[in-house]
Amino acid sequence: EPVSSAAMNGFCRIFGVETEYGVSVTGADKPVDAGQVAMTMFQPVVSRSRSTNTYLTNGSRLYLDVGSHPEYATAEARDPMNALIQDLAGERVMRRLAMQAQERLRESHGANAAIHVFKNNVDSAGHAFGCHENYLVRRFVPLENVERELLPFLITRQLFTGAGRVTDEGLQITQRADFLDEAVSSATTRARPMVNTRDEPHADPDSFRRLHVIIGDSNRSQWATWMKLATTHLVLCVMEHAARAGEPSGFEPMALADPAAANRAVSRYLMRGDIALETADGMMSPLVMQRKYLSVVEAFAADHADELNEVNDASHVLEQWRETLDVLESGDFDALADRVDWAAKRRLFAALEARHPGIDRTQLEHLELDYHDVANGRVYESLLARGQMRVLVDDGTAFRAMSEPPADTRAALRGAFVGAALNSGAQFSCDWTRLTINAPERHEVALLDPFRAEPTEEYLRMMRSLG
Ligand code: ATP
Ligand code: MG
Ligand code: MG
Repeated sequence: EPVSSAAMNGFCRIFGVETEYGVSVTGADKPVDAGQVAMTMFQPVVSRSRSTNTYLTNGSRLYLDVGSHPEYATAEARDPMNALIQDLAGERVMRRLAMQAQERLRESHGANAAIHVFKNNVDSAGHAFGCHENYLVRRFVPLENVERELLPFLITRQLFTGAGRVTDEGLQITQRADFLDEAVSSATTRARPMVNTRDEPHADPDSFRRLHVIIGDSNRSQWATWMKLATTHLVLCVMEHAARAGEPSGFEPMALADPAAANRAVSRYLMRGDIALETADGMMSPLVMQRKYLSVVEAFAADHADELNEVNDASHVLEQWRETLDVLESGDFDALADRVDWAAKRRLFAALEARHPGIDRTQLEHLELDYHDVANGRVYESLLARGQMRVLVDDGTAFRAMSEPPADTRAALRGAFVGAALNSGAQFSCDWTRLTINAPERHEVALLDPFRAEPTEEYLRMMRSLG
């Protein structure tokens, strides 16, 4: 299937967010481990699809690997807002699985058993798990540029996308900095790269890469999820435009001498302040670096407003970005507590400490975990109820997205296929680029162009076979 030249020339993009969740149980009257809980959560999935790996009618992938970290990978979206909506649908899918499992668990483990599902990145045993952002990127962007020009952005954007984590040293602004070492890798097996390009672009491999960003935290804040995708998209647009034209992007001076060390330093922003990092151009602080990224992107957006607006309102993103950096510079972190996860936690901790002077770390950790719990958590819900977190997507929209795919990508075709196959009772399977009916009659349809939401003749034939 040929890729349209529009897709190659313009700035359109595919976004996807994979989120691994942590699970645990409290209040049970006999021991139950996380693996058992995860399996209990996936019982309805297994009985439906005879596997712990399935695709839903909203086009997303829901699965459980060995271990106890259920994962939800959003359907392909064409813009950050739709990706956010799909990610919020994922939280609700997890909550529903947890609540159903909790009912069954209470029959065997007592009426107080409660299942917790954490949208965070580190468990109590110190194991890290991921939130992966996926960006379709034009292949002419050299991989070296990803390390030199994109990675410093990804590391310093954590000033406003970090989810925060209580540690011995104090509140770090990120969850994962201490668990990530290698910078960029094209292999999937290397230890813990911050960015990699998967061998499977799930699109025309001659034209595209799928950039797989490992470095980010899972966010509860809707604004943070949206901003992390929206700002990264704009930085990628600048890089693609420069690579296409064979010109410098303007991001070259930001290349970091030691990305992993820089990442750990940025994570300690609240303890150490805006300390300079070693770059190609000398020493530069994270905030100064963010300002440079912003000013390059602003100049670019002024020249390409119409094309950029096909994906989203770049001027709105830039305005939010600039305002956030201004607030960071002023040091009034509480002013970010309604949209930046680490700042929201910081405000919660300060309130708790004011009420209970000398409170210990265990209690802060308890509060922190509750903030991430999408099943039985109260903290984040009450912040929402009191209007203390920004809301970009209303409940109804997120709820509908549990069953509705984005309408403007191949996810629309996948979602409709899954719905029809489930209704007909056919044996079927999917992956990102393929839809298969195994019985009663074998059909297979490839969906190689992620931007294409229009059905092919072949697809329609398969759908007719489902009745
Ligand atoms: P792992 O779980 O081992 O990291 P993975 O990253 O290869 O595996 P999935 O967990 O299946 O893959 O998730 C793939 C993500 O990539 C989804 O969110 C999906 O929407 C997104 N995606 C699919 N096709 C494309 C594409 N062409 N470009 C960018 N993202 C894509
Ligand atoms: Mg995955
Ligand atoms: Mg992944």
